[in-house]
Amino acid sequence: MSRGTSGISQVLVLLERIEGTLSGAQAELLTLAERLGDVSVVTGASGEAAGDALSIRGVREVYVGDGEITPPDGALVDLLETAVKESEASVVLGVDVPDAVDALARLSVRLDAGIITSATGIDVDGTVSKPVLVSEHTCVARAGQGPLIATVKPNSVEAITEKGARPELTSLPVKPSPAFEVLETAPLPTSGRPPLTEARVVIAVSRGVDGDLSLVEQLADELGAAIGASRAVTDAGWIDHSAQIGQTGVTVSPQLYISVGISGAIQQKSGMQTSDVIVAINKDEDAPVFEIADYGVVGTSTRCFRR
Ligand SMILES: Cc1cc2nc3c(=O)[nH]c(=O)nc-3n(C[C@H](O)[C@H](O)[C@H](O)COP(=O)(O)OP(=O)(O)OC[C@H]3O[C@@H](n4cnc5c(N)ncnc54)[C@H](O)[C@@H]3O)c2cc1C
Repeated sequence: MSRGTSGISQVLVLLERIEGTLSGAQAELLTLAERLGDVSVVTGASGEAAGDALSIRGVREVYVGDGEITPPDGALVDLLETAVKESEASVVLGVDVPDAVDALARLSVRLDAGIITSATGIDVDGTVSKPVLVSEHTCVARAGQGPLIATVKPNSVEAITEKGARPELTSLPVKPSPAFEVLETAPLPTSGRPPLTEARVVIAVSRGVDGDLSLVEQLADELGAAIGASRAVTDAGWIDHSAQIGQTGVTVSPQLYISVGISGAIQQKSGMQTSDVIVAINKDEDAPVFEIADYGVVGTSTRCFRR
């Protein structure tokens, strides 16, 4: 990993949005960044919002635009590029969510550098690890040229952030993106549950629930869990496609994954098998999901959940 003029790696963290306090995944990313070197942050949030949320030990400097920049505005990429130069960053990190991947991929093109997405670990020597081949192997890679640009999956490290002094704010001039104009942004409807990719507990349901999610929803609310699903369920329209876990859906890596009646096809396993603890419920004792489960319950999902 190349080092800045101080001899210590300069790590620039992209937090494209800040909504009040930092999210769990943002706090995890800052924890990881602090292990790698001197940390500065670049954000599309306003200076005031950023200063409040980022009064955290280890955050040295925060780069903001003249005003708030909402992804996917290309002005965020301009801001990022300028911040990389200002901070002399040798490492640029973001959370593995679409807006950050989009901005960092565009940055990598501008800097003629590579990008490694969906990383689960980064060492001080600059090696990055990520699960590949439906999560059955771990790939260890290194940046070829330019800064190391990577996005890190939520739940890859434990967040340990402590309150600190208000960071220095540097406002950088940016122009609105000429490529396109954002006409309107509207928040997605929320369930009050944690986002699927960031949740520490995920309950995933299959065709076996027969369209009735009420018991699973009750359990999710008691555990503070997010609800995911197999493709059979999203295809049936019982839950939105954004909840699909697997090869053609999202990848999750929670501390606890409860699989309710999911058969465990390879395309489903690839999206959840890096979970810390897997509990599988299935009425078929030969269901493939039991091959990777830490705890298995052979029985019907409704019986398991009835008090
Ligand atoms: C290119 C490609 C990409 C794919 N991408 C994905 C993906 O991203 N995510 C994904 O999930 N799938 C994906 N699939 C589909 C995948 O192959 C499986 O078909 C799908 O995961 C099956 O979902 P399921 O286990 O819910 O349903 P089924 O295969 O129908 O299995 C239902 C299971 O429920 C159990 N069951 C039924 N009733 C109960 C009950 N009352 N209590 C307990 N257990 C019960 C049964 O024993 C069975 O194991 C993909 C397929 C392809 C070809």
